[in-house]
Amino acid sequence: MLVGYISTVIKMTILEVKDLKKHYTIGGLFSSKYLVKAVDGVSFKIEEGDNFALVGESGCGKSTIAKIIARLIEPTDGTVFFKGNEIFHDFKNKDNIFRRNIQMIFQDVYASLNPRRTVFQIISDPLKNNKLGNNDAIFNRVVTLLKDVGLTPFESFIYRFPHQLSGGQRQRVGIARALSLEPSFILADEPVSALDMTVRTQILLLLKALQVKHNLTFFFITHDLSVVRAICNKVTVMYLGRIMEMSPTEDLFKNPSHPYTQALISATPIPNPEKARQKKKLLVKGETPSPINPPSGCHFHTRCPYTMDICKKAEPELLSIGKNRFASCHKLQNS
Ligand code: ADP
Ligand code: MG
Repeated sequence: MLVGYISTVIKMTILEVKDLKKHYTIGGLFSSKYLVKAVDGVSFKIEEGDNFALVGESGCGKSTIAKIIARLIEPTDGTVFFKGNEIFHDFKNKDNIFRRNIQMIFQDVYASLNPRRTVFQIISDPLKNNKLGNNDAIFNRVVTLLKDVGLTPFESFIYRFPHQLSGGQRQRVGIARALSLEPSFILADEPVSALDMTVRTQILLLLKALQVKHNLTFFFITHDLSVVRAICNKVTVMYLGRIMEMSPTEDLFKNPSHPYTQALISATPIPNPEKARQKKKLLVKGETPSPINPPSGCHFHTRCPYTMDICKKAEPELLSIGKNRFASCHKLQNS
């Protein structure tokens, strides 16, 4: 009882990313070599029970971070701790334990399910591979998971192949598969961006309900701020491989601090025309620069309406700008 109370008051860090870098060398042989700094010194912590969002425009390094956390690729530098264990060293030769704890939900629902396997096979494969029960127990577990993700009556889905399902139903199968090993941490990389608007809302509501029911921590990657607002409690905003702002969701929408966050929020459509007219807008000029040769100093300075001299020369540090809020911006730190 006391332990339960203390753990609800003191939240445990489940994932910690420290000064993570991933640089790719492209070209060579017959052309010049270039360095792509996909992720360039990113640090953050996720606490147990968080629904943590990583947002930013396409190409800013979100999926690269997800792939490193899932141990699909190795970082150039930096460390990732999961429940206090460094993922590349402490989990070496303990792949089963790692995979059971961290599972992924993918954006591409068409490519992420094997077209030759039935729904039953797709969901039961992880259970069989980990020898989690006899045939009856595995069948019952698959039925429970299908019910959990809203594929009912289960009899009409369990022996279908992926091509016999709609996009939303396929994503539900992907979610059931991710939950099969009872993970504590779910990495969801753009899980709804390939779906129709109405299906998108249903899947977001399902994810939110499953998070509560299964006591999950979510790491949610998206370029869509409306998704963040719907289900996430914390947001980290990235731009060209670096963090611009970190904040509780409510504060970020009420009072976006970094000029880039202001621009992102200004670009989010508002259905009510009256409210849209009243909204304070910050529009940025130009396109996102290439990560091959990113701007000096603050990467955002070429598009920022408040650029000062120092922004062109020095990279701003990610510093506290209020309770639980951090931003890397010279203007905010000097005002
Ligand atoms: P996001 O998920 O935010 O859209 P990514 O993490 O996929 O961005 O990519 C970040 C940057 O790294 C992009 O400029 C992308 O082109 C580059 N990149 C990703 N993977 C590779 C790779 N294997 N080789 C070279 N460049 C890559
Ligand atoms: Mg991506």
